[in-house]
Amino acid sequence: MLPQAKIEEVEKLLAEGKLSQRKISLLTGVCRSIVSQVASGERPDYSSLFEPDAESLEPSGEIERCPTCGARVYMPCRLCHLRSSSEEGTLKRYRRRAKQKASRRLLAAVLRRQQVEQALATEAIDSAANRTETKPVNDGQEEKP
Ligand SMILES: [Zn+2]
Repeated sequence: MLPQAKIEEVEKLLAEGKLSQRKISLLTGVCRSIVSQVASGERPDYSSLFEPDAESLEPSGEIERCPTCGARVYMPCRLCHLRSSSEEGTLKRYRRRAKQKASRRLLAAVLRRQQVEQALATEAIDSAANRTETKPVNDGQEEKP
């Protein structure tokens, strides 16, 4: 349904006076604040109610079978457009996040390894130092006075 047609439907339902603004909002899918704007005589900005590319996706002709999803729809198939654009976005985000995660993990592993190697090296030096320090003492005569 065209945005303008939706607003006109809201206007018509408001004029009938049978339904509350809330019910009209639910029935037409038009946001409640817009319904109340229409009720108070303010004309909302139609274009802002819908996505910027909605215009190019307005049904242009007859119902056709969508080659992608197989549904009988007005072409271009809005469902497929939304689906593909959101999937692309999700996939891109996912890939980027996975990449970041992988590089962080790699960096962490490298750092950990460096720390371990450093610790081992320090330990080796320490024990070597201990050995050289303690050996002469243990072997000396000072232990048994
Ligand atoms: Zn489709």
